[in-house]
Amino acid sequence: MLDVLIVGAGPVGLTAGCILAQQGHAVRVVRKHPPFTGHSRASVIWPRALEIMESIGVTESLRAMGSHVTRIGYYSSGTSIGRFELDRLDDTAFRFALGVSQHETEAVLEAALRAAGGTVDDAELLALEQDEGHVTARLRRDGADATVSARFLIGADGANSTVRALLGIATHDVGPRVSFRIADAVVDQLPEDEASYCWTPAGGMAIGPHDRGAFRLAHRIAPDDVHDTSVESFQRLLDERGPGGRAPVVRELISTADFQARFAIAERFRVGRCYLAGDSAHVMAPAGGQGMNSGMLDAAALSWRMLEALRNGAADSALAEYDAERQVVIRKIMATAVEHARDGGLRSDEDIAVRDQRYRAMWQNAAQHKDRVARLSQLTVDPARAAGASIPS
Ligand SMILES: Cc1cc2nc3c(=O)[nH]c(=O)nc-3n(C[C@H](O)[C@H](O)[C@H](O)COP(=O)(O)OP(=O)(O)OC[C@H]3O[C@@H](n4cnc5c(N)ncnc54)[C@H](O)[C@@H]3O)c2cc1C
Repeated sequence: MLDVLIVGAGPVGLTAGCILAQQGHAVRVVRKHPPFTGHSRASVIWPRALEIMESIGVTESLRAMGSHVTRIGYYSSGTSIGRFELDRLDDTAFRFALGVSQHETEAVLEAALRAAGGTVDDAELLALEQDEGHVTARLRRDGADATVSARFLIGADGANSTVRALLGIATHDVGPRVSFRIADAVVDQLPEDEASYCWTPAGGMAIGPHDRGAFRLAHRIAPDDVHDTSVESFQRLLDERGPGGRAPVVRELISTADFQARFAIAERFRVGRCYLAGDSAHVMAPAGGQGMNSGMLDAAALSWRMLEALRNGAADSALAEYDAERQVVIRKIMATAVEHARDGGLRSDEDIAVRDQRYRAMWQNAAQHKDRVARLSQLTVDPARAAGASIPS
């Protein structure tokens, strides 16, 4: 019997798999889809998630391919209203974020998981049942069905989670639905160490460096927008909305995508021996880059508790707290992401003036400046970290 069956080989399932396998537990990760290698999806790993990556031993590999982001710049109609420096953080070894494509992160984690003896294979979860001692899952692999038993199951199977559906867990929207158009692009004349949010009354543009030399460009779209994913359209938006004083030139679009994002949270993260983590438990729009990062924190919080339960063979009391703890943490992270999305969506002169003043004040005030970067870095929301608990290495 497996110790843990993990459904989903995205960044969350793989993070949990690494932590558990590195402690010698029998872990199998299954995925329905082959690894996604289109647009970059998540393109920033914040300091708290980097601390988790460090405990797994993969930060050197990630650093070799990613951009070092040292500040977050905010611009209102081209004028700087705040430049928040990550070197204000004083209680982490990671005073920077890494801009790196999600599929690169997944590849590095998958290699670490295999090196630790865990397995990853292409199989779809179809059904599950559980009793007091174990979970039994029915999987389809190469057209044939098979059952597998495990002491615990982690549903890290993304926004349309099968695990969540099989457990009968509902989700609730907690913020607006927003549509985005993104590009991964080669752009000249943009700094590789700054993630920028450029807001104008006509709309915004987010710019995030990743994979050394490539940038994520993202802007909101309305349902009736013309579908234009040309180099010229992104160039025009950068000219109209980008940081003032620079003249960025879009050389090449590596990939583009449109997608609708929502803010939603599952009403429970646990039923019996089955647990939700990452997008299966909560989804958030990409403004602020909090989605994948918060899922990686779930993975660490859950795995750490599972290690205790597996080691002691005891009643899983620490595990029982996972649901309540993560609901609180995720709602805090979600509030930051919703605020970020709302700030970027303001249109009236009056609202914009108030927002810009608020950002300037935060920027100039040392405590608020640090709090801002600590919140985006997810350093202040993790009870395990605050308690000094670390993942055993
Ligand atoms: C365009 C875009 C931009 C984004 N930008 C950011 C960002 O800048 N920062 C950030 O932090 N986040 C960002 N996100 C969010 C981030 O991509 C997600 O939060 C992250 O992918 C969630 O990881 P996950 O492991 O929970 O799920 P996923 O990455 O969705 O992985 C789900 C896994 O489950 C598997 N699966 C699904 N169903 C089954 C089944 N029945 N049986 C077996 N396997 C199954 C899939 O094959 C896959 O392996 C962005 C998302 C998008 C779409």
